[in-house]
Amino acid sequence: MPRKIAAGNWKMNGMQSTLSELRTLEDKHGDADIAILICPPFTLICACEDTPFDIGGQDCHTAKTGAHTGDISAEMLADAGASYVLLGHSERRTDHGETDALVAAKAQAAYDAGLIAVICLGETLDERENGTTLEVIDRQLAHSVPATADALNTVIAYEPVWAIGTGKVPTTDQIAEVHAHLRERLQDRFSDGAEVSLLYGGSVKGSNAAEIFAVPHVNGALVGGASLTAEAFSPIIAAL
Ligand code: 13P
Repeated sequence: MPRKIAAGNWKMNGMQSTLSELRTLEDKHGDADIAILICPPFTLICACEDTPFDIGGQDCHTAKTGAHTGDISAEMLADAGASYVLLGHSERRTDHGETDALVAAKAQAAYDAGLIAVICLGETLDERENGTTLEVIDRQLAHSVPATADALNTVIAYEPVWAIGTGKVPTTDQIAEVHAHLRERLQDRFSDGAEVSLLYGGSVKGSNAAEIFAVPHVNGALVGGASLTAEAFSPIIAAL
C-alpha cells in the first residue's frame, strides 16, 4: 500500500511565531500512523528540529554548492533536517519558468542528497477546458520524473492549477480520472509504481477532505492555505 501523507505547503508564509501551530498539531497528531509533512519556508526548517513531523523544503537547486545567489541545495536541506523537498510546484513553474527537464534534474539532486521528492504536476484551466488534461499530465510525468524514481524516493502530487488557492475543487470523478491515469502510467514505467504515494492538492479543507480521500488512488493531500493553522490542518489529518 502506498504511504498515506498529509502534507502542508506553507509557501511564503510563516514566522518563528507560527511554529506554535506545530506544537498544537503535535498534541493532537504527534503519534499519528500516517506521515505528516510540513514544508515551511527555508528560514524555519532548522527551527522545526524537535517536531515529530517530517520536514520538507519547497524547492532546491540542481547543484550541490556553488555560485548561485539566493538558491539552496538539496544537501543543505538535508543538513538542516529536511527529509523531503517539493519540486515543480505550479507557482515555481509560473514564477520562475521551471521546465519539466529542470524539475527532473532537481529531483535527481534530491535523490542524491537522500531526500524524497514530491513532484507536482497539474493542468491549467485552459488545458482542462481544451480537454488536454491527461495529455499534459502525461507530458509532465514523463519529463519531470527521472528514470531513477521509485516508491521510496518519490511522491507525486496532482494539483490542478485552477484549483490552487481558488476554493474551486474538481469533482471526485475528475480527481479519480487523473489519479487512476497516474497510477497506470507509474505502473507501466516503474516496477514499484503501485506503491508510489499520489497526493491531491488544490483547495483541500476540513470540509472536503474525507470526500477527496475516498477517491481511489488518492493517498493523501498537499495542502496550502489550510495547512497554516492547526485548527484548519487538523481535521484534514484526521480525515486521512
Ligand atoms: P491551497 O490548498 O491553498 O489551494 O494550495 C494548494 C497548493 O498549492 C499546495 O501545494
